[in-house]
Amino acid sequence: MTNTAQVFAFGTEDIEPRSGNRQLDRALAQTLARLSRTFDVLPGFAYYRDSDGENALATPETLLQRTDGTVLFGLGMLRRLLARPEHPDASIVAVCAHEFGHIVGYKTGLIKQLAPDENDPFRAEQHADYLAGFFAGLRKLDRPNFPAVVFATTQQSFGGSTRGTHGTGEERAEAVVEGFKAAYEKRLPASEGIQQGFQFAMAR
Ligand SMILES: [Zn+2]
Repeated sequence: MTNTAQVFAFGTEDIEPRSGNRQLDRALAQTLARLSRTFDVLPGFAYYRDSDGENALATPETLLQRTDGTVLFGLGMLRRLLARPEHPDASIVAVCAHEFGHIVGYKTGLIKQLAPDENDPFRAEQHADYLAGFFAGLRKLDRPNFPAVVFATTQQSFGGSTRGTHGTGEERAEAVVEGFKAAYEKRLPASEGIQQGFQFAMAR
């Protein structure tokens, strides 16, 4: 999600640097570093109390003294994903990669064309889903047994039955798959993947 106004509704008491699961935090820190290197963005990252609804979000606001905005991951969302029977870790990475995709949109300025009206973020969501898929493709190139399909099923599970703001489940999965192919089959560098994802989203 991209609504920055809501971020300011959080007090710092709602933000948590750690999840309470040390092993998870350690593994995720490595993944976040890798997302930063891949997409050349350095957002702050923290958890927050998403008592108003399970969610994760990205904002261009620098709430955590990092240069490229902030990614906040809801603790309720985290619990929900951890309860998934298959590859809960990959589903968490999928959500993080999507949010880093939004940070890319902010940093490159592409967001202005993707979502000139912030009440209609559909293309920005498609771009973020594409980049999440792109990251899955890179991971699978490194590690052939990486469960990349979880990225598509995760974003699909958060889609609606109608387009809404994030797109239907089908539209979301399609964007993830296109991004995946750009990395895994076409072997595009990330800078090119960001541009191809932009073209893809704008054509939707
Ligand atoms: Zn989003």
